[in-house]
Amino acid sequence: MKNYTKLTLLLFTVVACGSNLLAQQRDYPIQPIPFTSVHVNDNFWEPKMEVNASVTIPYVLAQCRAHGRVDNFLRAAKLQSGDRLSDFPFDDTDIYKVIEGASYAMQVKKNPALERSIDTLISIIGAAQEKDGYLYTFRTVNAKKPHEWIGSKRWENVEVLSHELYDAGHLYEAAVAHYQATGKRTLLNIALKNADLLVATFGYGKEEKYPGHQIVEIGLAKLYRVTGDKKYLDLAKFFLDIRGPKGDAYNQADKKVVDQHEAEGHAVRAGYMYTGMADVAALTGNEQYLHAIDDIWNDVVSSKLYITGGIGATNAGEAFGEPYQLPNMSAYAETCAAIANVYWNSRMFLLHGDSKYIDVLERTLYNGLLSGVSLSGDRFFYPNPLASMNQHQRSAWFSCACCISNITRFLPSVPGYVYAKDKNNLYLNLYMSNASNITLAGGRLSLIETTDYPWNGNIDIIVNPERKFDFILRLRIPGWAQNKPITGNLYTFEDKQAQPVVIRINGKAIKYTTEKGYAVLERNWKKGDRVTMNLPMPTQKVMANAQVKDDRNRFAFERGPIVYCLEGPDNKDSLVQNITIDKSAIVSTTFKPGMLKGVEVITAQGKSTRRQLNTDVLLETDQKVTAIPYYAWANRGPSEMTVWIPYEASAARPQPAPTIASTSKVTASVKNMRMWKALNDQYDPEDSKDASAPYLHWWPKQNTTEFVQYDFDQEHTVSESKVYWFDDGPWGGCRIPASYKIYYKKGEEWIPVKNTIPYEIAKDKYNVLTFEPVTTTALKLEVQLPADNSAGIHEWAVK
Ligand SMILES: [Zn+2]
Repeated sequence: MKNYTKLTLLLFTVVACGSNLLAQQRDYPIQPIPFTSVHVNDNFWEPKMEVNASVTIPYVLAQCRAHGRVDNFLRAAKLQSGDRLSDFPFDDTDIYKVIEGASYAMQVKKNPALERSIDTLISIIGAAQEKDGYLYTFRTVNAKKPHEWIGSKRWENVEVLSHELYDAGHLYEAAVAHYQATGKRTLLNIALKNADLLVATFGYGKEEKYPGHQIVEIGLAKLYRVTGDKKYLDLAKFFLDIRGPKGDAYNQADKKVVDQHEAEGHAVRAGYMYTGMADVAALTGNEQYLHAIDDIWNDVVSSKLYITGGIGATNAGEAFGEPYQLPNMSAYAETCAAIANVYWNSRMFLLHGDSKYIDVLERTLYNGLLSGVSLSGDRFFYPNPLASMNQHQRSAWFSCACCISNITRFLPSVPGYVYAKDKNNLYLNLYMSNASNITLAGGRLSLIETTDYPWNGNIDIIVNPERKFDFILRLRIPGWAQNKPITGNLYTFEDKQAQPVVIRINGKAIKYTTEKGYAVLERNWKKGDRVTMNLPMPTQKVMANAQVKDDRNRFAFERGPIVYCLEGPDNKDSLVQNITIDKSAIVSTTFKPGMLKGVEVITAQGKSTRRQLNTDVLLETDQKVTAIPYYAWANRGPSEMTVWIPYEASAARPQPAPTIASTSKVTASVKNMRMWKALNDQYDPEDSKDASAPYLHWWPKQNTTEFVQYDFDQEHTVSESKVYWFDDGPWGGCRIPASYKIYYKKGEEWIPVKNTIPYEIAKDKYNVLTFEPVTTTALKLEVQLPADNSAGIHEWAVK
């Protein structure tokens, strides 16, 4: 049993309500060094944070305006007429998250214009708040036709879909960030008025309800830290304790939170809840919460974590799947879930002081989180798949924009994850060039770190204490530098080639001990002491546990903290699904400063395989294969991509032989050319509901007549059609069609073929139709959609 008594009491001053009051507060035994004290000046994160500040924040603000987010508040404030609202009751949070991100960014670099526009937004938010503190534009606007999620009165649907408390949670986070950044209490006062309403409304003997989407717990913990007022902490704990056991697994309400030992349900809700539990555990000393989240953490890292750090495998319910259910092409791995995973692992570290949590945090940060935003800063992923057949592309906006505003607020806070402290222990968790000012129990110091991380593992640190004093530097030695990508056996390296990590102080190699993944350097430090560490960074081939069926006979490249992928633009014929690389292949790496804003690429000798007509013999060709960092994919248009590379030919997908269909020009009654490609890509789905395979669909159309058409490359004589329907019932909107019919082109006319067997309509297989041979230049497949559903097609072949 772990020792939880280490939850020490910390004494610190709380600045509250304009007066200084000394409060005795329990909190995390380890405290992060705030990002405002860490000035990152490297070539990796600093440019990304600059793009976030100069492109993403203004872009997302403009998009929020264009998509009705500001109008919602203006209408609730009666500053604008009409009752039209945007799509979702949680749209208010996009405004809050942009304010949070802008507040962080303004702390890094002053921006008076941005500050003025944030002030204006805050005054509109204040005007939209009702007298008693209630703030939720979707009810206050009082639309003639209210959104169906909000219920007929306040809090009625709070446990399911209203998101009233989710909105409140993001408001509190934004308010604390804005207050700390600017010293202004404008948004904080709005938040406190709202939180006081919650305190008056919810609790035992009052409204005994839990939030349908968690995050208010984290927000309340922050309000408690800022004000020192325990009622906010008590309410956060109430919202956790009142959860379960009679609700749904979808939002972690089917058990009491302390009885939960496995990750389940909607991954973002879960990640925020585990984070909130860690906060409340740290602030109250509650050990039952700790036992629960320790178990859940072990469950995630041993069977539910993508190599990219993404969580939430399945599209159904945006949720955790079964253990080892980690599909690649249909991976959900929502950007918000990656952010939640960073929050949670950061808290787990602050509780336990173990670097295994930072290993997960770093993996998520550099891979499955960073992939959520384009290098240009204005295109975004919601799910972050690990394989593609051209069907994925970043978007400029989503009607549900949670991931976009979330990445906006997260990026400026990255420097806050670099260091942490506990009395005279200084933890170095993430490595990036920076200059920082830090206060430990025994004195103050500045640190200057220089490194080319993540491309190179040489780290150089100048330690400058104000005066000589004893303290302990704890340098994290990443798991990847010790043959351990993460704790447990979900992922392992093929070659156990870890070399010793050499640490020098003032040029002299030292012997050091390690504790919980940290090299412990205890010393009477003086100005100018220089620590150098070399983390060997060979390219590793990562193998997944054999129980992950989607990764069998495949490996992934990883170098340092960066996970790699193969992408079309870097490889022959823009294809990657047909590539194999031998497990023993020698690889080399090169830094390409002009490519994808500067990336280290991996090259290896591999093979590509191709099918031929009229024989099962595969054609194999040697070719040079190039891999790029996963986070940088999909910046050059839609393409093929794969993280997991086959080392067995059986796991690869040979380039299909050309067919009449594959050489045809596709058109269809749905105007999405990316979907047209699905029809003749010769990619067979596992079954009709296989959403990981590319497909064409007509959703949300119902009960209409639609078509797809092949214009052949030349005249062909054909006598057979094979169609595989997409059907995502019972939850999705597509079913097999009511009927379909094949026509051929004769002159300018479409003539029905004379079928020699009846038309069959069945799911989970090819529906074959043979007909009297016709010589033609085009075939058309006409589909009658079901009366109350839509339909779709995975593949259509002709012979
Ligand atoms: Zn999201």
